[in-house]
Amino acid sequence: MREQLMRMLQERKDEMIEIRRYLHQYPEISFHEGNTAEYIARFYEGKDADIECNVGNGYGIVVTIKGGKPGNTIALRADFDALAIKEETDLPFKSKNEGMMHACGHDGHTAYLMVLADCLIQLRSSLKGTIKIIHQHAEETPPGGAKSIVESGILDDVDHIFGVHLMPNEPAGTVGHHSGYSMAGRSSFKLGIQGAGGHGSSPHLANDPIVAGAHFITAIQTIISRRLNPFDAGVVTVGSFDGKGSRNVIKDRVELEGDARYMSVEARETIESEMHRIVTGIEAEFGVKCDLAYENDYPPLYNHPEITEFVRANLERVDDTDIKQVIEFPKFSGSEDFAYYLEKIPGTFFFIGCKPKGVEKAYFNHHPKFEIDEDALLVAAQAVGEVVCSYNEHYHVQLAESVESS
Ligand code: MN
Repeated sequence: MREQLMRMLQERKDEMIEIRRYLHQYPEISFHEGNTAEYIARFYEGKDADIECNVGNGYGIVVTIKGGKPGNTIALRADFDALAIKEETDLPFKSKNEGMMHACGHDGHTAYLMVLADCLIQLRSSLKGTIKIIHQHAEETPPGGAKSIVESGILDDVDHIFGVHLMPNEPAGTVGHHSGYSMAGRSSFKLGIQGAGGHGSSPHLANDPIVAGAHFITAIQTIISRRLNPFDAGVVTVGSFDGKGSRNVIKDRVELEGDARYMSVEARETIESEMHRIVTGIEAEFGVKCDLAYENDYPPLYNHPEITEFVRANLERVDDTDIKQVIEFPKFSGSEDFAYYLEKIPGTFFFIGCKPKGVEKAYFNHHPKFEIDEDALLVAAQAVGEVVCSYNEHYHVQLAESVESS
């Protein structure tokens, strides 16, 4: 099956590029991807697979391919939403939707997975187990689509899950992996501090919330430096301190807003509980009233070590494809809602180099001039196709053996 699949993918490289360029011209932002979802659904019409639309809290699509032989169930996911960015490239197929752009490569994710899925549908009879193709809406905007797709129960029977992201830091032909915690989790907070306003000349008759806010900002610096395990990583940033008033007036109330990032669930819990503790302390110390709204957004992304090693070993073994090198990628401080799948289903999220040819340093994801080398689409299809084939050939056997020997 492997050789057949690789040949089919090679032959359909132009089709992947064509689909990607179509999607690139008509980007739609998170939770508003109706036309994109319709385009994807139409592609699967009349094909030998079950398709379910409007999965989760938006336009999610799950296509189920039942193999002709018994086996595990795996899921492959690609996201299809774009960003509210005005495209600044000179591409002939640049965005026709004003103020929207596929600046994170989700057009490429969708294009490779549609063609790969179609090939797998055609090879259905020789496939072991079941493959669930997840075309996911709304990755870019919290609460995201992934969490709701997990909660819908449609993936309850999935044994392992895989996903990829196009990354322009390496050229096409490079596949990157990282075991364990690999991408940052994210939280946001808003703190309101209610004091008592008054005249700047008479602080004893007022209660200055700006001073209390300044202490809060200083105090939370100690969360990272004094509370976090030094082998862990985290960031706390206050990005807004709304204390604008007049020179000689003590304000009544101030508001602060900030963001936290971390590389483990433990760090997430430490930062949240310590911030609550500090706020309680500020109330006692300054006699102000605080309201802290603290929200955990996407969790830190955890790649299952055994599955990641399985992917790495099998991709390194392949030689007759467009995959040129398989390397370890560093941890990445961006966030991804694929992390929600990985909280429930062991799997791995890996990276596909897409740096445009002939450039020294590529524009990174979310930049208005973000571009990809479209050769990366075939590499993505081959890499994920290879994972499916190796899983079919080896993983079932391995699982059976480990069950027998335990
Ligand atoms: Mn992305």
